This record gives sequence, structure tokens and C-alpha cells, in this order.
Amino acid sequence: MNDLAPIGGGCRTAPVLKQRGQREVFCGLTGIIWLHRKMQDAFFLVVGSRTCAHLLQSAAGVMIFAEPRFGTAILEEQDLAGMKDAHAELDREVARLLARRPDIRQLFLVGSCPSEVIKIDLARAAERLSQLHAPHVRVLNYSGSGIETTFTEGEDACLASMVPVLKDTTARELLLVGALPDVVEDQMLSLLGQMGIDNIRLLPARRIDGTTAVGPNTVFALTQPFLGETHAALERRGARHIAAPFPFGEEGTTLWLQAVATECGVSADTFAAVTDAPRARARKAIAQASEHLNGKSVFFFPDSQLEIPLARFLTRECGMTAIEVGSPYIHDALHGPDLDLLPANDRWGPQISEGQDVDLQLDRARAARPDLTVCGLGLANPLEAEGLTTKWAIELVFTPVHFYEQAGDLAGLFSRPVRRKSLLKLEAAE
Ligand code: SF4
Repeated sequence: MNDLAPIGGGCRTAPVLKQRGQREVFCGLTGIIWLHRKMQDAFFLVVGSRTCAHLLQSAAGVMIFAEPRFGTAILEEQDLAGMKDAHAELDREVARLLARRPDIRQLFLVGSCPSEVIKIDLARAAERLSQLHAPHVRVLNYSGSGIETTFTEGEDACLASMVPVLKDTTARELLLVGALPDVVEDQMLSLLGQMGIDNIRLLPARRIDGTTAVGPNTVFALTQPFLGETHAALERRGARHIAAPFPFGEEGTTLWLQAVATECGVSADTFAAVTDAPRARARKAIAQASEHLNGKSVFFFPDSQLEIPLARFLTRECGMTAIEVGSPYIHDALHGPDLDLLPANDRWGPQISEGQDVDLQLDRARAARPDLTVCGLGLANPLEAEGLTTKWAIELVFTPVHFYEQAGDLAGLFSRPVRRKSLLKLEAAE
């Protein structure tokens, strides 16, 4: 493991540029798009406006099949003006939905900007509806409002809402937290299974019956770097976090697996026997896919909270230089291990920034002229028009990118726009 030892003077203690201005990110409702596919007996009922319904419809567009597992209870003008009892309306809407859809076992009432503005108490509604529809259906609530949440915080809020109702246990169990595409989750479970680790629970589970219990002997590892609230909620239940870099790229995956394996008492020989071959495959795939990234610079706008681990991957495995790494929030317990691996900014490392003041950050990006800018959809078009090459951050959340078998694809997601730009330049020169 010597080749994976952290370099000295990482970014963990480097000064962070804190920004609290206008921000350009999607709201937390977006998480419903991947959560409804993951949790197969859940339904997400957004209590919101037509705008919220449109956001979900257009974001989910191609993915809607016969019976979607999300919908919007639309607040009409009368609700907003307080002329109707929104709680009675909601009860009727839920009763109709559950009568029509006996397959629903978990119902999430998801708050939005309008429901927050008119202060509908969804926690009270969830409690009342749970009593009405238990034991067949469990009703929980969380907020996906753009006032309170950014893009990936919707998943964090959803998972955090589940933690207080998990059953108690004193069993020693490993809990893996974060919604991964099924194929990636299966790869992760297979690697851990080959190491002999099989007392594993998942949050979220694919179905409510598989939902885990939690207690003082639970150890948990996060697979997504945006789960700060869930992390805090699990610690409140007595569970202990296994800190590790996130499983992006060959190095991140190996360090993440190593941390879990060490916690579970796996021998070095077993670890090597299970990981050597996929590590070699991942290294080869990254080397091929990152050919166009080597020696290039990257600038991250804050969007998904994946920025810090991805900057670690791009700088240490793909030969890039990071100029600025912006993240909506930085949690030392979650992001510290990845920050340790990024060179500090007085040693050619990046400026780390937290939060956003979008105009100031745009000025910094324009001045730096990075070879690749990772940003939200709203910023990408104007920056492309100014000649910068961009990558939409949202794609990184919708594409399978974790663990060894996806490491080459992850590098490919960044190298494609850079390669396209080089080809366009060549064509223009001819
Ligand atoms: S929750 Fe707020 S930001 Fe999100 S779609 Fe609805 S109104 Fe827009």
C-alpha cells in the first residue's frame, strides 16, 4: 500500500475561500430521479407547485415508465392564499394514491419552496399519515426545497429522514450508505463478499423489508460525499463512521476498500488477492481514457459535493492540475481523507472554496482560463460561448462512476470534452 500513502502537506488544513453569495445549482428535488429507481417500493410525493412538477417531468423525461414512483401534489392558488386546508387535501391525495398503488410501502412527502413558504408542516402530516396507513405503509418527510437544499442534498435529506426509524440492534454490522446504481452496488458487494465480509446492510435498501437496523456496534462507510446529515444522524444512533477517500478511480476505490477491510479484519493477502486484478484493469483503463487529460488544468464550480474526491482523482490519477475546487459544503469528517491527498495550494495545489458567489467565481475562472471547467448546466453554455471547455457536473451523478470497473469511464467523462475541443481546434487550423 506504499504507493497509496498520502502525500505530505495536503489541502485538509489549507485556507478555504468561503463564499456566501448568489449560487447557481439545482434544488434537492433532483435526487428523486435516482432515488425512485433505487427504492423499488417507495413513492415520492412532492408537495409543491407546477414548477416543481415540470422540473421533475423534464429531468426524469425519458425515464418515466408505466407507473412512475413519484408525483406532485400541486398547491393551487387557494392553498397558497391559505383559503383551503392543505392538510385535508394532502390526506385525500395520499388516500387516493395508496388505494390505487398497493405496491407502495414507503411514502416520502417531499417539501418544496412553496410548501416551505406557506409553512405546511410535513413532519406532522407524515406522522398522522403513518398512523393512518401503518403497518403497510411508512410515511416520512424531508425537504427538497431550493431555499434549503442544493442538488444532491435531496438524497442526504431523504436518507437522514430514514435513520431515526431504523430498528435498534446490538449486532456488529457493516452499513454501506448512499444510493448507487444496482450494477455498481453489486460489484461493491461482490468485492467485499470475496474478502469474506458479508454482514452488510444497505441504506437505502432496494425494498423496505431489507432495511437495516442500527446501533452502537454498527460501523458505516459512505459511498457518496454529499451525505453530511445522514452521517450525523447515524452517529446520533451510536454508529461509527469509517473515514476514507471516496471510491472514485483506482486509488480512491482501493483506499475505500482498504479502510473497510481493515475495520473488518481482512488480511493483507486476502485483500491483495481480491483487488490486484481489478486494480490493474482500472489502472489500464484510466491510462487509456486520460491520455487527453494529462498536463491539462481543471476548475470546479460547486455543485454536487463530488468535487473534492473528483479533483483528487483527476490530479493524482489523470495527470491534471486543479486550479480551484469549489464545493457547496465541506465536512471535515467526510472530505478530509480526500483533502489529505490533494497537494496544498502553496505547493501548486488548488484553491479550495466553499459555497458560492457566482459572479466572483466566474471572474476567477475567466482569469485562469482552465482547460476544463466542471459546472452546472446554467453556467456551461455562457462559458462555452466564451471559449472555455465545460463538463456538466450533473452528468457525474447520473452516470455509474464508482469503483474499479467504472474508473476508465469516469476518466472518459472528463476527457471527451477536452478531446472534442482539441479536434475542433485542429479542424479550424486546417
Ligand atoms: S422546490 Fe423550489 S427550486 Fe425546486 S422546482 Fe420547486 S420551486 Fe423550483
